Amino acid sequence: MNKKRAIIIGAGPAGLTAGYELLTRTGIQPIVLEKSEYMGGISRTVNYKGNRIDIGGHRFFSKSDRVMEWWLQMLPLLSSEDSPTAIKYHRMERAIKPSKSGSDPVAADRVMLLRARKSRIYYLRRFFDYPISLTKDTLLKLGLWRTFKIGVSYIRSALFPLQREETLEQFFINRFGRELYGTFFKSYTEKVWGVPCTQISAEWGAQRIKGLSVWATLMHAIRKIFKGGNRDIGQKDTQTSLIEQFLYPKFGPGQMWEEVARRISEMGGEIRTGWSVDRLVTDGWRVVEVEATCTKTGRKEKFKGDYFFSTAPVKEIMRSFDTEPPKNVLEVSDGLIYRDFITVGLLVRSLLINDKTSQGKQLISDNWIYIQEPDVQLGRLQIFNNWSPFMVADQGTVWLGLEYFCNESDEIWKLSDERMVELAKQELSKIGIIDSAEVIDSTVIRMEKTYPAYFGTYERFAEIRTYIDRYENLFLVGRNGMHRYNNQDHSMLTAMMAVDNIIAGKKDKAELWEVNTEMDYHEEKEHSK
Ligand SMILES: Cc1cc2nc3c(=O)[nH]c(=O)nc-3n(C[C@H](O)[C@H](O)[C@H](O)COP(=O)(O)OP(=O)(O)OC[C@H]3O[C@@H](n4cnc5c(N)ncnc54)[C@H](O)[C@@H]3O)c2cc1C
Repeated sequence: MNKKRAIIIGAGPAGLTAGYELLTRTGIQPIVLEKSEYMGGISRTVNYKGNRIDIGGHRFFSKSDRVMEWWLQMLPLLSSEDSPTAIKYHRMERAIKPSKSGSDPVAADRVMLLRARKSRIYYLRRFFDYPISLTKDTLLKLGLWRTFKIGVSYIRSALFPLQREETLEQFFINRFGRELYGTFFKSYTEKVWGVPCTQISAEWGAQRIKGLSVWATLMHAIRKIFKGGNRDIGQKDTQTSLIEQFLYPKFGPGQMWEEVARRISEMGGEIRTGWSVDRLVTDGWRVVEVEATCTKTGRKEKFKGDYFFSTAPVKEIMRSFDTEPPKNVLEVSDGLIYRDFITVGLLVRSLLINDKTSQGKQLISDNWIYIQEPDVQLGRLQIFNNWSPFMVADQGTVWLGLEYFCNESDEIWKLSDERMVELAKQELSKIGIIDSAEVIDSTVIRMEKTYPAYFGTYERFAEIRTYIDRYENLFLVGRNGMHRYNNQDHSMLTAMMAVDNIIAGKKDKAELWEVNTEMDYHEEKEHSK
């Protein structure tokens, strides 16, 4: 009767992790309010006529053993003849439990697959390895003159690095040299963010591609020759950008989050879809209830709670308080910037580019391809067949995801679905990947606020944090919830640690904010205990 309640805003990875952790580790009853009809947030899977779209392509790997264990407990690894008998991640080795599926087709479907990662860069209408390998093939494709300039500019950067490393451009130049940066990083990065690399903070590079350099790439290639690749799924010693294999739910990332939601409901937790939280009611420095609007009927309802978790965008949550935050804090939250995202699903009979094998022409094996060509707006191309064959209804077809990074205010965001599909078909033909006559079907998905940007007012984010942390029963967690460029694992860890804090009666939230930026530190600290 007197059970404490937690109100969780959002049923993405962070919100659902919080709900599950509360149910399994505390006596607190979670109510998850989700404005859409789906589970998984950005990590959901869209099912279009049996062809599944993963918005962005979600690799399941983590350097956190806690997260790896959690995922595998939800969806075990499919054990097959050629799969490993044990999973080794950062500090642990676990024998793989044989799948209990037997003849039960539902259980057989609730599994993860172990997938090889392959992604390449498409530039000058050619493929280049990612990470760049300085092989004869790469040098031939680049040509002598360009290769010479790359070498000279790299040596110059290695000997005389730029003293100031405040922008992303300076970050790249110090690690790769100006020429290599211009060839392989500039166009794609600027497509993602929509602003020049000179306007993006070096902090983005430090967080996302920390440790990646020409040197790290060379060492990785050498280690691969002698050790035959890294079989450790956690791949702790491998830079994130170089991870070679990953786990993947049979039917895409959304399957993981639907499974977590199923278990939450089974344990008596409540998940309400179609409820958008738009007001936080406070009493001094505690939140006491939220007000949500039913997206179908417009009806409003109040939900009282003892704890509150928000995964909604910081910009929106700061405008939801009944007592207006100070002017300077609102100035910062209003000035936060996001990038939005369009995926065009194209079902095609075949591609113009193939892998030539002894058995003839085969579908290229890339999971995704970075489109560095500056004459198209297309940023990245997903080949969903290579994420999981179960993402595609007819194995004789190729199911593609063409990804466009944009702002909601851009012309491209406002294009009708028909015109968007036309643009996608025309661009992919232009760069020689498909013949547009081969397209059988198509769909368009628009996703808002997929990337929290590290420009705009972001450098003053500490003002928001100082203000919000004083609400002792309010936890901002997840990606947009904390305005952090988090992957699923880090979004989940923030939720797990918020529950740890509640259990320990700890009020200080500093550790939550350090997830991702100081992750290595956390892991080491945990290790030395
Ligand atoms: C292109 C791309 C590629 C990615 N690749 C990977 C990858 O390879 N591996 C990986 O691990 N991660 C990847 N990610 C990151 C991953 O998608 C996110 O880290 C993760 O989904 C964040 O989870 P979250 O719960 O914090 O937020 P979200 O997924 O954004 O979920 C938040 C939820 O809250 C709901 N919500 C928002 N406001 C309200 C409100 N007011 N009321 C009620 N509900 C609300 C939303 O509808 C949403 O469902 C990728 C992301 C992108 C964009």
